[in-house]
This record gives sequence, C-alpha cells and structure tokens, in this order.
Amino acid sequence: MFLLLDAPNLGGAEKAKLMECVDSTYVSTAGPFVPEFEQRFARYLGTEECVSVQSGTAALHIALAEAGVGPGDEVIVPAFSFAASVNPVLYTGATPVLVDVDPETWTLDPGLTEAAVTPRTRAILPVHLYGNLCDMDKLGRIAEERGLVIIEDATESLGGTWKGKPSGTLGNFGCFSFNGNKLITTGGGGMVVARDRERINHIRFLVNQARDASKGYFHPEMGYNYRMTNLEAALGLAQMERIDLFLEKKRTFARIYREVLAGLPEVEFQKELPGAQSAWWLPSFTLSGGVIAELQEKLREKGVPTRRLFSPLHTYPYLRDCCRFSYPEAERIFEQGINLPASTVNDEESTLRAAEIIRDAVHSMRR
Ligand SMILES: *Cc1c(COP(=O)(O)O)cnc(C)c1O
Repeated sequence: MFLLLDAPNLGGAEKAKLMECVDSTYVSTAGPFVPEFEQRFARYLGTEECVSVQSGTAALHIALAEAGVGPGDEVIVPAFSFAASVNPVLYTGATPVLVDVDPETWTLDPGLTEAAVTPRTRAILPVHLYGNLCDMDKLGRIAEERGLVIIEDATESLGGTWKGKPSGTLGNFGCFSFNGNKLITTGGGGMVVARDRERINHIRFLVNQARDASKGYFHPEMGYNYRMTNLEAALGLAQMERIDLFLEKKRTFARIYREVLAGLPEVEFQKELPGAQSAWWLPSFTLSGGVIAELQEKLREKGVPTRRLFSPLHTYPYLRDCCRFSYPEAERIFEQGINLPASTVNDEESTLRAAEIIRDAVHSMRR
C-alpha cells in the first residue's frame, strides 16, 4: 500500500514546460507563461482577470493592502486556521480579532462574527478550512450591513463552490495558494481575484513595485515584489490540465473515508453546509475520547500517514492581544482532530484500504 498525505502530483507535462523555460532563458518574471496561467486560471473561476503572486501569504497581504486595511483597523479571522491566514493582517499594522469556529463546519461562526464587529472592524477574512466552504450568505449579509470588506482565504478550497459559485469569487477579494501541498502547485505561488476590475489593475501595479513604466523607473507609491516567475507559471499551466481530475480524486477519497467510517459514533467528519460543495483538500475528522494521538500512532505503524490539525491561533504567544473571546470549538476540534491522506498521487484502492485500517483501529481502541 502506497499512501501520501498531501504530496504534489507531477509528471511529464510539468517537466516539458519547465524545460521550455530553461531553453528559452525565461526563468524569471518575464515570459509567456505568467499571463497564460493567469488567463487559464481566470477562465477556470469564471472571472475576467486575476493576478499571480509569490505565495498565498502574499495574495492575502496584497488583498488586505488594496482594501486599505492598516493601523487602527480590525480584521476578523477564525481562531482555527493556519498561521498564514492571520500573519498578513499583522503585516498591514491592523489588529486581527480571533473568532471561534462552528462546531460542524470548523469554519468562521457567523453569529460570533456578527457579535465581534466593532466600529473599528474593517474586514472579515473567512477561511474555507481544509476545502470546506464557510456560510458565505450569512457572512456576506453581515459585511453588507456593516460596510465590511470580505477577503476570502481560498488557499485550501480551490475547486470548492457555494451555491454553484467558485470559492474565492464570493467576497470582495479571493486568495489562492499553489504551495506544494495544495490542489495544484507552482512550487510556491498564489493568485488574487477581486470583484472590482479597478482593484485588480491596481494590485497588478502594486505587486510589480508600483512601477509606472511610462516614466522609466518611477514609483508613485510603495510597492511590493510579489510577482510570479515564468518557471512557476509553467508548472501551474501544466497542473491546470489535470485540475478536474485532481478534484475528482479528492472528492472520491473523501467519499470513501466517510462511507467506510460512517458507522462509528465516535468519529465526526467536517460537515458541508447545504449549498456548499467542499473541495475536500484534506478529509478530516474528530475522534472523541482523548485518543487521537494513540490512533495516529497505530495508523503510522500500519503505513497510513495522518496529521494533527492546526493549533488554534489564540494559543500563539504573539497573538495574545488578539483574543477577546473564548475558543472552545477551536480547542476541541484541534484536540480531537486529524487530517487523512489525500494526495492525488494516491489511488482508490489504497484509500479504501486506509479507511478500513482506520475503522479497525478505532474499533480496537474501544474500552
Ligand atoms: C497554504 C495556506 C496559506 C498560505 O499559502 P502559502 O502559499 O503557503 O503562503 C494561507 N492560509 C491557509 C489556510 C493555507 O492553508
């Protein structure tokens, strides 16, 4: 049995495209593949335009900067996410305000979000965690009523949808990552989309050091060097050829785990809301009874790689001042939860076998 947790799926097309870069000497930010990849990605999302950047973190940072978020502002961020969801808020000088997640979806709780809004709140940063969509209707309504910007962290949810609309196109800004463990990879890279065309044009200007090329090297405002390279875009283009296949695999793996483990009352999978279609980036569940570390060890011995979930952000020393509330759900999910192997290199047979091993291990741990 051969199973990987979240390794990338690379092949001949990727190799050939990379060689084209080397042969043409276009390895840096100039070259044909960057605009081609952007157009391809925009078409996939059904948007007009998007801007490629160096990472998902850079995508979030530039979206926050473009939204005008800065010192004195507050940005609502779920307490249960990867550190890269919250760090870009700190880069801008704004204050992240951590809010607990919903016990079933593991994503930003809309009721608690509404209660956390203050006169200083500028933006909400929903994270579609492990591919699962947040309640974008409720969050959208709060944002509209309070005049807030929504910046979607769609880094884990590429391919997921809310009422048929792709994640990342549901807020004012959407941010994607092409890190090696995501649905598609460019080695390291990201993408920003925006509802407003002018915003996207300005982001394209900002990520290129805010250079006004019509005046040579003249920079009317502070910019960033966040541009994607031709090498990265080459990988991205090759990966886009197989994105539907990758997504189909993720969904199949998630279905297999849920079906095989369905009869176990102590196991609870992350749930999709009605209207949501998760990208199932990493199928994940909680196991009650305080035995998740024991399960993980048993699975490791049997060749099933798993990973503990993200430590809740409110437990990080540098985010102490961002904790106005309590975070019982983030804590419970972290203490009981696990990610399952779902690399698109895996096949259905090994995934089925892994699911059976997990089922048997959970049975064997009953006291
Ligand atoms: C991967 C990820 C990011 C950041 O992406 P990078 O490309 O690694 O910078 C941000 N948020 C979440 C939830 C992620 O999983």
